[in-house]
Amino acid sequence: MFELSNVSVSYNKKNIVSAVNLTIKPGEIHALMGPNGSGKSTLSLAIVGHPQYTISRQSKIKLNQQDILSLDPYQRAQAGVFLTFQNPVAIPGLSIKHMLKTMRDHLELPKTTTKDFIAALKKYAHMVGLPYEALDRSIHDGFSGGEKKRIEMLSLLVAEPKVAILDEIDSGLDVDAIKIISQTIQYAKKEWQTSFLVVTHYRRILDHIKPDYAHILVKGKLVKSGKQQLIDQIERDGYAQFNQ
Ligand code: ADP
Ligand code: MG
Repeated sequence: MFELSNVSVSYNKKNIVSAVNLTIKPGEIHALMGPNGSGKSTLSLAIVGHPQYTISRQSKIKLNQQDILSLDPYQRAQAGVFLTFQNPVAIPGLSIKHMLKTMRDHLELPKTTTKDFIAALKKYAHMVGLPYEALDRSIHDGFSGGEKKRIEMLSLLVAEPKVAILDEIDSGLDVDAIKIISQTIQYAKKEWQTSFLVVTHYRRILDHIKPDYAHILVKGKLVKSGKQQLIDQIERDGYAQFNQ
């Protein structure tokens, strides 16, 4: 169970996210929708411990009853919290394969042999539609926008997270890529009961993923939560209805 209670986030003393409450049960998929600049990425980055953001003292974030705000970013990852970045950073000289092996070795997961790791990597690369040979290239370096999103999903599969936040994983993707992403989400949900927070401002990916709940963030506040009906309403009427 992943629980945010009263989570407020500021950047440079400016409040960006205010008093967000959210609970995601194992295997549930929640959509976080909202217009540009509403604070979706700020909230996502603050959850994983990005040092640029300050979380208020009243805020609580728990994963299976464990407080994660007292943990360093790498410890949050070890606890099972995973984020795919809206704008992943390239690291020339660090191969995807090496990065993923190092990540896997530092997570608190059952140890695998190199042979099993390679076999899993081949399977996962195929699942996300990346040629296995591409994993020898530097991470996110010279890859297209869509390929970067596939690399992010490949990392997710290797990390087997308890909770995954996908920040605009669908931006710039064609319909085939969106199908692949949603199949990957379903796979993680089935294999590891991963809880998902899918951040997006488009309905399109949600038609494939079929989230259990949707939440609307406007100007840093969760203004409404609901189910499919709410997503339909946003598609029809936009976010303006929530602007006070
Ligand atoms: P969203 O992801 O919903 O589009 P963001 O979280 O990226 O929104 O941004 C919310 C607001 O916070 C914006 O006004 C943005 O300019 C501001 N903000 C967030 N992070 C930073 C940052 N690192 N530097 C300056 N402003 C920021
Ligand atoms: Mg964003």
